[in-house]
Amino acid sequence: MQRYLFIDRDGTLIVEPPDTQQIDSCERLRLLPRTLSVLRWAQQVGGYRLVMITNQDGLGSESFPEERFWMIQRLLMDIFSSEGITWYGIHIDRSREESPSFYRKPSPLLLLPYMESGIDKAHSFVIGDRYTDMRLAQRLGLSGIWITNPIHPQEHLPFAHIVKGWEEVQAILKRSVFSIQLHRETKETSVHLSLSLYGEGRVTVHTGIGFFDHMLTLLAFHAGWDLVLKAEGDLHVDVHHTVEDVAITLGQALYRLLKDKRGIHRYGQAASSLRWLPMDEALSVVAIDMSGRGLLTWRLPLAESLGGIAPSLWKHFFETLAREGAFTLHIQGYGEDAHHLIEAAFKGVGRALREALHRSEEANAVPSTKGAL
Ligand SMILES: [Mg+2]
Repeated sequence: MQRYLFIDRDGTLIVEPPDTQQIDSCERLRLLPRTLSVLRWAQQVGGYRLVMITNQDGLGSESFPEERFWMIQRLLMDIFSSEGITWYGIHIDRSREESPSFYRKPSPLLLLPYMESGIDKAHSFVIGDRYTDMRLAQRLGLSGIWITNPIHPQEHLPFAHIVKGWEEVQAILKRSVFSIQLHRETKETSVHLSLSLYGEGRVTVHTGIGFFDHMLTLLAFHAGWDLVLKAEGDLHVDVHHTVEDVAITLGQALYRLLKDKRGIHRYGQAASSLRWLPMDEALSVVAIDMSGRGLLTWRLPLAESLGGIAPSLWKHFFETLAREGAFTLHIQGYGEDAHHLIEAAFKGVGRALREALHRSEEANAVPSTKGAL
């Protein structure tokens, strides 16, 4: 499944002059801030194909000669290619609003070949600065990203994100690219999750085990994830299957989202970034390596059950999470109160994961001398 960004040109990639609403000379060519860096990121890290779709009213007529358009378009293409940005398709409609062609936006006809060739609709977007761009998104069954342009009126649409510029576009794309929905069903449990790695800490967890919900919420919040997790398990037997299957599902979600681990930090150390993770008298030290090798080292002196979950099952949770997520996880700590101790561990794992999964906007290398993790 291929992800696409269908992108308008004037007012979206380049600034539309308020006086003429037409870029009529190379001297007036200006790109919107961050356009280049976000497009490069979308292509190289996000795996998007970029497609330009633009209405150029009356192109080729006396009032809008070919030469004037192509002089600017060629310069624009040179700028993109100098930054390593390539366009998978460029579609220009020359008709006028009062006598539109069959293909003029918001007609989706030009883009139908893309829609019929294995497009990943959930992660593809139309990006533009006009209502017609958003209507195109709607007709294609995609989400729109509407960049504010003072020249054109804006209204709230349920299928469109309204943003001020490309920085916010990148945040939306990042949330979308690194998000996953998983459903795991066995005779013992049913687990649904929706996870976005670079979210805002919006977390809803229902497993039927209140204390476990609390711990998972802390982990996800401190990791910076958006997480919705619902589990229904055979709690009439005991808590084991539910705890284990939540760990399996969460670990598998991480594994699938990280694929070749391109662009991530790799190492996360709650101990070095925060020095320690204290919870009153308790303290945890957590270190993570997204190594591709799932294992747990556990030195946490838990001596009693919490929320009906025995010390061995807490260990089993992290062991399973690390194995399914294919990362190396070290957890150690001390403390007198068991609640404080396990809470420090969950928060520490969240913080360490946040650090290990951090992506710089530019880096796209695999963080290993082997070239693979
Ligand atoms: Mg436009």
